[in-house]
Amino acid sequence: MGPVTEWCLCGNCTSLSPEENVCCRETPKVMHRCQQVGVNTCITEHPGFEAVALNPYVLQAVYGTYLQLFGDMPETMVHSNYRHLAYRNVAGVP
Ligand SMILES: [Zn+2]
Repeated sequence: MGPVTEWCLCGNCTSLSPEENVCCRETPKVMHRCQQVGVNTCITEHPGFEAVALNPYVLQAVYGTYLQLFGDMPETMVHSNYRHLAYRNVAGVP
C-alpha cells in the first residue's frame, strides 16, 4: 500500500500497518453511519463518534457486556478489544 495520501479520502488518516490502513470513506457501514446524520467528511465528525468510540467509560461498560456474552479474555488484549468495541459501537449495527 502506498503513502496515506494515495488511499485516504477523508484527509484524517495516518499510516499504520497494511491491514489497518483503511479509510472511513471506503467502509460501507461507517459511510452509512455518516449518511444517517449528513456527515460527508470523516467519521470523526459524526456527533456520536467521541461518545461511543473514544469515551473510555463507554468502552469499559461495553467491554463488560462483551465479557458476559463471550467470556473472559487475556488482559493483554484489552486495548485491542477496546478498539474493536469502538468500531462495533460506530458501525456494528445497521
Ligand atoms: Zn481517511
